[in-house]
Amino acid sequence: MHNAALAALGLDGWRYLRLPLPPELFAETVRALPAAGFRGVNVTIPHKHAALALADAATDAARAIGAANTLTFEHGAIHAENTDAPGLLAALGEPVAGRRALVLGAGGAGRAAAWALASAGADVAVWNRTPDRARVLAEDLGVRAVTRPESAEILVNCTSVGLSDPDATFKALPVEADEMRAGSLVVDMVYRAGGTRLLQVARSQGARVVDGLEILVAQGAASFERWTGMEAPREAMREAATTIAIT
Ligand code: NAP
Repeated sequence: MHNAALAALGLDGWRYLRLPLPPELFAETVRALPAAGFRGVNVTIPHKHAALALADAATDAARAIGAANTLTFEHGAIHAENTDAPGLLAALGEPVAGRRALVLGAGGAGRAAAWALASAGADVAVWNRTPDRARVLAEDLGVRAVTRPESAEILVNCTSVGLSDPDATFKALPVEADEMRAGSLVVDMVYRAGGTRLLQVARSQGARVVDGLEILVAQGAASFERWTGMEAPREAMREAATTIAIT
């Protein structure tokens, strides 16, 4: 996705590389990257907390969420951001202020979604399979934890349910098909070829849906713009991401 964006903008000397790292080598390797010509990095599981910890500066979002997915090397310092949160809001494409939102999941994606929705003015409730995790998230971010899902105008699945087994959603998550109706917005952070079962059912019930692939593109575009200072070519990124998700 990023290499497609670099090619679309003619940034021939730039490359986006995969760099698998064990946790014990994370900090030392990242600190060496600026001298090797790197402009920044995306960081994923399990390094998002470590990325925030080693940064010299961080955005309010990254600090509140407790995780960074984007590091930028600038003027001899490491800057940490979390683009999952603005990426989610950008992908929603409609205002959330004053609306009731239910976030399913209290992992990294759940924290980013809850913070993003609350900071944009939504009334946010969080449910998690392990209730204690939802309680901690709610205390940290000033949202509500619920042990039973309540009806909401915006539903965001931030669990990994549906990733490997498309039928798992309605067995593992406390979601009723008839709660998703016209006028509601259903978002699945999970992305897979053909969309998830949650989104298929929500769409058939008349809800508006947002696929995790759109959020992937939006968070990637935010990182890309931070590193290059150029507007991200979202269509080229979407096309590349779709190809990868399908293969
Ligand atoms: P994570 O930190 O490992 O959290 C996983 C979450 O899923 C936890 O809330 C966990 O609940 C829940 N869960 C797992 N299995 C479950 C089950 N059988 N029933 C109910 N809940 C279950 O992972 P994450 O980083 O938050 O990512 C979550 C998902 O979002 C992943 O599929 C990831 O690919 C996706 N994601 C997408 C984007 C995007 O750009 N579209 C960005 C970030 C993440 P417990 O606490 O009870 O274990």
